Amino acid sequence: MKIGVLGGGQLGRMLALAGYPLGLRFRFFDPVPESPVQDLADLVVGRFDDLDILSRFPDGLDAITYEFENVPVEPARHLARRVPVYPPIEALEVSQDRLSEKTLFNALGMATAPFVALDTYDEYQQAVCSIGLPAVLKTRRLGYDGKGQVLLRSQADVAPAWQTLKGVPLILEGFVAFERELSQIAARGRDGAIVCYPLVENYHAGGILRRSIAPAPATSDDLTNTAQAFLRRLMEHLNYIGVLTVEFFQKDGRLIANEMAPRVHNSGHWTIEGARTSQFENHLRAVAGWPLGSADAVGHCVMVNLIGTLPPTPDVLALSEAHLHLYGKAERPGRKVGHITLWGESPGPLLEASRGLLSSVD
Ligand code: AMP
Repeated sequence: MKIGVLGGGQLGRMLALAGYPLGLRFRFFDPVPESPVQDLADLVVGRFDDLDILSRFPDGLDAITYEFENVPVEPARHLARRVPVYPPIEALEVSQDRLSEKTLFNALGMATAPFVALDTYDEYQQAVCSIGLPAVLKTRRLGYDGKGQVLLRSQADVAPAWQTLKGVPLILEGFVAFERELSQIAARGRDGAIVCYPLVENYHAGGILRRSIAPAPATSDDLTNTAQAFLRRLMEHLNYIGVLTVEFFQKDGRLIANEMAPRVHNSGHWTIEGARTSQFENHLRAVAGWPLGSADAVGHCVMVNLIGTLPPTPDVLALSEAHLHLYGKAERPGRKVGHITLWGESPGPLLEASRGLLSSVD
């Protein structure tokens, strides 16, 4: 079976690495020739709206998926006329617009930060009054890794934030003084079966994920049930196929949904070593129409993203149960170039070891 993948970044690379043992083969499509999948699989380089490529790309493919949620919707629709595209394009569309995403979350009974969509400065000023400060001004579309958002701490930040982001549709959100950030990853197969990974605790700096702890410590049954029930509702509503991630804030012991990603997720990289079936394998099983594997955790993991620069490989491998994943990308400030998963029977020593790694790469 051959799977087409829109996007050829590290998520695509890890999908291919999970798919080869199952006999899957891949064709990637990415605008950048130096993509992390370049040495690994057939890579078609071009713009996503190149009609010539779009007409050739599906030849011989059994299904198409994507590893990047900013893939333009129209080309995906075009491809879906020839070969099934999973997750469904409706999920891609919802996730690309913070307004439709949060509106859907609320409609399905999930709390979000208060939000107001705005196009004009007048609307912005009114929104600042109704939501109050602090607040976060975000672009509705094309935001990732903290890009396209500005924190408004006080009135003095209001006008400069507008100057930074104006010109595109925006959304103002109330600032959530959260206790911690959590994510829930789940997979749904073509037969409607759903498996849920444990909740993961995530620490971000500068809008970029730095560290994940899995399973999240001190997680009540209530939190787990709320997160999993919401993922089930969302997946069933979207007739979803594949892996879906929702990121939450935890405040006063309750969950507030921030955003969804219709794809495998950085906060699920630990599943390669720390779950019975990795998120990458389960995504492919779903896309291929095969039964899903167990999403249960095996032991504990702390995953640390390598941002900007790489530590010497022997230093990492000298740590007990450290699993290094390099993405084949050149070092550059702010860029995710790899990750390390520390595995163990209990989280305490892993957290201790991860502190050294965080400070050495930050
Ligand atoms: P996002 O692009 O929405 O995922 O935001 C990236 C990160 O910025 C989040 O993981 C949070 O750490 C922070 N953030 C975003 N929105 C808010 C908010 N409304 N309140 C507090 N922190 C936020």
